[in-house]
Amino acid sequence: MKLFIKNGHLVDPATGHDGKMDILIEAGCILEIAKSIKKPSAAETIDASGLIVAPGFIDLHTHLREPGQENKESIESGAKAAARGGFTTICCMPNTDPVNDNRSVTEYIIARARKVGLVNIHPVAAISRGLLGENLVEMADLVEGGAVAFSDDGNCVMKADLIRKALEYAKMLDVPLIEHPEDHSISGEGQVNEGFISYKYGLRGILNAAEEVIVARDIILQSRIQSRLHLTHISTGGSVDLIRNAKKSGIRVSADATPHHLLLNEELTQTYDPVYKVKPPLRTESDQFALVEGLIDGTIDCIASDHAPHTRDDKNKEFEYAPFGVIGLESSFSVIYDRLVRKKKIDWKRLVELYSTNPARILNLSDRGQVKPGLPADLTLFNPDGRFIIDPKTFRSKAINCPFNGWKGQGKITYTIVSGRVVYKAD
Ligand SMILES: [Zn+2]
Repeated sequence: MKLFIKNGHLVDPATGHDGKMDILIEAGCILEIAKSIKKPSAAETIDASGLIVAPGFIDLHTHLREPGQENKESIESGAKAAARGGFTTICCMPNTDPVNDNRSVTEYIIARARKVGLVNIHPVAAISRGLLGENLVEMADLVEGGAVAFSDDGNCVMKADLIRKALEYAKMLDVPLIEHPEDHSISGEGQVNEGFISYKYGLRGILNAAEEVIVARDIILQSRIQSRLHLTHISTGGSVDLIRNAKKSGIRVSADATPHHLLLNEELTQTYDPVYKVKPPLRTESDQFALVEGLIDGTIDCIASDHAPHTRDDKNKEFEYAPFGVIGLESSFSVIYDRLVRKKKIDWKRLVELYSTNPARILNLSDRGQVKPGLPADLTLFNPDGRFIIDPKTFRSKAINCPFNGWKGQGKITYTIVSGRVVYKAD
């Protein structure tokens, strides 16, 4: 089975490609990349004129809710949403029911993902048993079972000694720890960013310091261990400064930010619309700008969706009682492209680094994040001029809690290709 992609503009920072290239795919892998390839007989052809061809996008922070809460999202609906959003690989967080803190859950997820067969799904296992922050999981066993990273996401690992031990094991196993940085003793029952808006509307606030003390703590521990530490959904300017300085002094740390923290701020929480209730909370405009600066200068390595599906009934409660979280797989690329690439904050090359090259590097997925002969043909094709409207009614996710509802702009996913197979094609 051959797939021929002609006339596309290939952008791949890993191999240095940035120009018009034809790509020939055979048996799921890249066979040839050249300025002009003669159309082989019996090949399915995609005319990619006007399209950007990138190594497949990777989301290292997705919640799929299966096992346990398939009414919110399932491995199948999440995989469909990922494919529609241009993601060829996603990593699912362990806060399912049961928690993915043992090999049988990891293997269940892998088996289900294989059966669904749309995009690559890699389980992230818990750091502590039951996400309780007390006892370390059997990390080696989980890696053998197929876990690609560890995280207690939703919770922060509050015991410094436990995260220290986890960093030591992660170093031996050569896998990343993904920390959700939140000091629960500071954030408490907070609902929104602590500041002018929380005081004005009488909502309980979450200080920037709740995040920053954990970012600082983890960087200090990591400076001695030099394991693999990844800080997820960074939301404050102070965190960006801490990570920037850590990198400057040679400490091995990586970080991501979400589209909602990059493009939205706390002003929206004045509406009391629970769709803007997220953790960490939407921060001030100056935090938002500091995050974008961090994207531009390389402090922040990648963009992660933190796709967190909820049922309509759950999320439509009063602000105070609604759960935290928004979905993001099907809006991430378009809103970032329109607001950051088209507004010339970042270029195509940086965009591909943020969505593909860097997440592949952080996760040690050496055969992904690049377009090279012999490697699996995971590709994302997008039309930089294609118009989009974010409309949750069209989503393949089961959930609609998207904070970009109604946004319009340019930058549209047109094809998602996993191992040489088209798993999504725009209408
Ligand atoms: Zn989190």
